[in-house]
Amino acid sequence: MKIDLKTLTIQKAHQHMLEGDFTAQELAQAYLDNINPEYNAFIVFFEDVLEQAEKADKRFKDGTAELLTGIPMAIKNNILIKGKRTTAGSKILENYKATYDATVIDRLKKAGAVFIGGTNLDEFAHGSSTENSAYGVTKNTFDMGRVAGGSSGGSAVAVASDMALVALGSDTGGSIRQPASFNNVLGLKTTYGRVSRSGAVAMGSSLDQIGPFGKSVEDVKIVYDCIKGNDKMDSTTLKDEVIEKAEKGIDLNKKMTIGIPRHFLKEGIDKDVMENFENSLKKLEEKGYKIKEIELPNIKYSLASYYIFAPAEISANLSRYDGVRFGFKKEGEDLLDDYMKTRGEGFGKEARRRIMLGTYILSAGYKDAYYNKAQAVREIIREDFRKAFLEVDVILTPTTPTPAFKIGAKGNDPIQMYLEDIFTVSSNVVGNPAISVPMGFVEREGKELPVGLQILAPHMYENLLFKVSSDFLGGPTS
Ligand code: GLN
Repeated sequence: MKIDLKTLTIQKAHQHMLEGDFTAQELAQAYLDNINPEYNAFIVFFEDVLEQAEKADKRFKDGTAELLTGIPMAIKNNILIKGKRTTAGSKILENYKATYDATVIDRLKKAGAVFIGGTNLDEFAHGSSTENSAYGVTKNTFDMGRVAGGSSGGSAVAVASDMALVALGSDTGGSIRQPASFNNVLGLKTTYGRVSRSGAVAMGSSLDQIGPFGKSVEDVKIVYDCIKGNDKMDSTTLKDEVIEKAEKGIDLNKKMTIGIPRHFLKEGIDKDVMENFENSLKKLEEKGYKIKEIELPNIKYSLASYYIFAPAEISANLSRYDGVRFGFKKEGEDLLDDYMKTRGEGFGKEARRRIMLGTYILSAGYKDAYYNKAQAVREIIREDFRKAFLEVDVILTPTTPTPAFKIGAKGNDPIQMYLEDIFTVSSNVVGNPAISVPMGFVEREGKELPVGLQILAPHMYENLLFKVSSDFLGGPTS
């Protein structure tokens, strides 16, 4: 049977494989054949894709196949898969082969998923365009002259361009949601602690979360259900009982109220994006949602505080790349010179910028002024959200202020690039879950470019995100 990758979902693929319409090997081959290298979505290709699929086929034969068995997935190349090259988009890890599986990979392997390859990202996930990758930029699905977004640009394009059915990315300040919105797919950032970070190359450890990309709410939820949950390898993961209790507290059938922080949506937003946003609100109103204006008085400080504690955590996390323990090494005159040459040549410009910023922020005499102050601001922002969620069930914003920008447009201006994250960082700062779902298109130079709607929910209320997303998109939740 000819496989229609465009309309395929996990459920449909599963059903077809169960009924023998096609095998997991044929499905994997169909995706492999559809990889267009011009997009540069994948930076590491796996040699054993068909072998993985063969194992999946055996499970269909012996009746042990699960929903994700044989489902082709793209994995951001900062998530460890044992034996596979994991570059994190950096030269310093160019030849690094993972020695163990990330917990999310272990869970997906047990479910029988098939990993197609490692996807491109900004070096160590620092960025919003994949232009900071040491392996070249990933191109946008809708216009090759534009960025895919980032840092999980490769995963977003892999799903949007049917080079994989679903994908994993990581989100520290928007890196799943922003590329999802630039490529017309869904991307979920889970509650901090909901998904194990064990085996994800660390960026900002108090902010990082791994999460799924998909073309439907249902696909995103299926991957989320597989990877979520407490893990003894990550002591920041939440206890399953705590989550279950929280989930029981949500009444998904009641009339919901949506909060809109209009005071935060006044400046710097593209007017076509705003028009799409207003139409999205109308659509939800028609579906019975109540819209209410809310105040998040300190949300304007999210971005500034993020760019204090993110580099601080980054500088600490990147200190392990010293040429001795991992990957790339450049010999110098003595040990210190080894470090300077290895790190000077192994790290790209943005990683070096963040190491310097972070080291400065954490240095004696400045730690109180910068790091501790930013942490205090973080608490205040958390309190804003806590109060807002007493009045409303979810909060909506556009995912990004503009559609995908042109390759090269912001590369030399870090502040402009950081402003991309204005709407996304707050949920990393606060730790609550957020999703980006497609909300329409805007026209630029004769091309239709997608834009995303961001939905934020209180901690542990991922189910609420799925509910509102499916009401908005008009499909079933599960
Ligand atoms: N764009 C943000 C940054 O550069 C977020 C990156 C991410 O979420 N990994 O820090």
